[in-house]
Amino acid sequence: MSEYPPGSEFELIRRHFAPLSVSEEGAYQLDDDAASLSISADKELIVTKDLMIAGVHFISDDSGRTIAQKLLRTNLSDLAAMGAAPRAYALGVALTSNLRTNWLSEFADGLANDQSEYGITLIGGDTIFSSGPLFLSLTAFGEVPKGCAIRRSGAQIGDLVYVTGTVGDSAIGLMAAMGELTKLPDWAKKYLIGRYQIPEPRVKLGKLLVGLASATTDVSDGLIADLGHICSSSNVGAHIDLKDIPLSSAARNACALDSKLIAKVLTGGDDYELLICVPPSVSTKLLNKAESVDVKLSKIGKIVDGSDVSVFSEDKTQLKFEQQGYQHF
Ligand code: ADP
Ligand code: MG
Repeated sequence: MSEYPPGSEFELIRRHFAPLSVSEEGAYQLDDDAASLSISADKELIVTKDLMIAGVHFISDDSGRTIAQKLLRTNLSDLAAMGAAPRAYALGVALTSNLRTNWLSEFADGLANDQSEYGITLIGGDTIFSSGPLFLSLTAFGEVPKGCAIRRSGAQIGDLVYVTGTVGDSAIGLMAAMGELTKLPDWAKKYLIGRYQIPEPRVKLGKLLVGLASATTDVSDGLIADLGHICSSSNVGAHIDLKDIPLSSAARNACALDSKLIAKVLTGGDDYELLICVPPSVSTKLLNKAESVDVKLSKIGKIVDGSDVSVFSEDKTQLKFEQQGYQHF
């Protein structure tokens, strides 16, 4: 048995995880075989799960705190994309012997921070020891009014396509973290790496989209690929104007140094911003809702007849990309 984690599995759960469960009665302080969630008759439960492995989804020596935050936030982003309010989550951790002494405390701290920021509670999980890389999984549960989950399949020809925040920061941030982009100023690197490590799920806005958006998804694989998912589920195509894609000043800086990075922006993924389709008649309402929760929203294109996502430059030439998004296999 390795020196880390210290103590027994039960001691570890009692010390680090049980305190995160106190606000959900049905978690039984993580001291029973399973948890119980009661849910009111007019709501339905939305369930999502993400897996993360060191070296693929986070950098192995990122702090336990930011790894926890990314793990929770990627799932919160999926809930937001369905219009759901966060409720509870279950956590799977496969710990390794090479973790720093305070790793678990940092990890639990990151979870505690985001639990209070987003209103979600730990209700259970599993803890094992891994002889391979650090491996984490999280299953999140959210609630929407019955029958009101926002699907990918509702986009209609003529809908406008919006995206929250800025795109491309995370993919460019990963390159910076890997020691590429040496000419980029330090402030820009720091900002972009921060966006890679700690995404900002659009939880408040997600809930407000119920009854308004015709289709939503979050950008995890890449903007073109994820908009492509809306298109294939809805049997439509989409036109995107490159000039309308919102970039942070750090990403703009990077693209000015290397124009090929624009492909990263559109296909790199890990953005956890929301793509939102709405009929033009409700676009003002949508913009007002976004403003009410302080989220920047940019119109980037429209839904058209067809089946593909086409990206156009300012002079109306269509741009081609080798790959539409991140591929796991
Ligand atoms: P089992 O043997 O049935 O898998 P465990 O002994 O692994 O149960 O877990 C005991 C309790 O601790 C359960 O309520 C379980 O949900 C909880 N638990 C175990 N690991 C975690 C974790 N990583 N996060 C939250 N709860 C956990
Ligand atoms: Mg177990």
